Amino acid sequence: MTEPPPPLPWTAWREATITAVAPITPRVKSFRLAVDFADSVRAGQHVDVRLTAEDGYQAQRSYSIASAPDGSGTIELMIEALPGGEVSGFFAEVAAVGDAIELRGPIGGAFVWGPEDGGPLLLVGGGSGIVPLLAMLRLRARVAPEIPCRLIYAVRTRAEAIALAELEARARDEPGFGLSLLTTREGAARRIDADAVAGALAGLGDPARVFVCGSNPFVAAASELLLAAGIAPARIRTERFGG
Ligand SMILES: Cc1cc2nc3c(=O)[nH]c(=O)nc-3n(C[C@H](O)[C@H](O)[C@H](O)COP(=O)(O)OP(=O)(O)OC[C@H]3O[C@@H](n4cnc5c(N)ncnc54)[C@H](O)[C@@H]3O)c2cc1C
Repeated sequence: MTEPPPPLPWTAWREATITAVAPITPRVKSFRLAVDFADSVRAGQHVDVRLTAEDGYQAQRSYSIASAPDGSGTIELMIEALPGGEVSGFFAEVAAVGDAIELRGPIGGAFVWGPEDGGPLLLVGGGSGIVPLLAMLRLRARVAPEIPCRLIYAVRTRAEAIALAELEARARDEPGFGLSLLTTREGAARRIDADAVAGALAGLGDPARVFVCGSNPFVAAASELLLAAGIAPARIRTERFGG
C-alpha cells in the first residue's frame, strides 16, 4: 500500500472541483469545493481564489470558509454577486458543478476561533461578513455547545440575510446562543448601535473573544461601539471584506 502524498502547503495553488452549487439569497450562492485540506480548516479562515482568462489575465480574491470540518472532504464558500464584480460575477453567472477552480489555503491565523479559545463569544457580522462567523457557530454547536455565544447580524432586509433559517433554528434550539438580527432597510430599520451591543452583552457577560466581520464602514462602526462598551481591544478581532 502506498502512503498518501503529504499535504501541499497553504501557499501552493491547487485545483479544487465544485461539487455543489445552491442559491442562498437572491444575491448569494453557496459553493461546495473538494479540497485536500478540508479537515484542517480552523473556523474563521479563508481561501484565495484565482481566475485566469484565456489571454493570461489573472484576478485573485479572498473568500471565507463557511463550513467547519465535517469529514466530507469539502469546504463551503458563500459568494455575494457585487454589481460589476469581476470574480463574484464569475461565480454568480458561470461557475458550475464539475468546474475546477484554482485556490490556495486555508489562510488566516488571527481571525480564528476554536473551543480552546473559550468564551463567552460575541460575533458581529454585516452582510456577507456573516460567512466566517457561520463557521464558528457551526463548530461551536458541534464541539463546544456549552460556550455562551451571541450574534449581532446586520443586513439590509431579511431576504438578504445569509443562512437565516439556520441562524433562527440555532437561536431556538441551542441553549446559550442568542441572535440579534438588525435590518437596516425594512421594518423598524436599525443599524448597529450602542443599544444593540449592550443588549448582546447583557445576555452574554464579558466576552473572552469578539469577532467582527463585514465591509470597511461596518467593521469601523462596530469596532468603535465595542470599544465604547468597554471591551478590551486585545479581545476584538476584525476582518474587512472591502467596499
Ligand atoms: C479575508 C476576506 C474574506 C472575504 N470573504 C468573502 C466571502 O465569504 N463572501 C463574499 O461574498 N466576499 C468575501 N470577500 C470579498 C471578496 O474578496 C471580493 O472583494 C468580492 O467578492 C468582490 O470581488 P469582485 O471581483 O466581484 O469585485 P471587484 O471587481 O473587485 O469590485 C466591484 C465593485 O465592488 C466594490 N467592492 C469590492 N469588494 C466589496 C465588498 N466586500 N463590499 C462592497 N463592495 C465591494 C468595488 O469597490 C467595486 O466598485 C472577502 C474579502 C476578504 C479580504
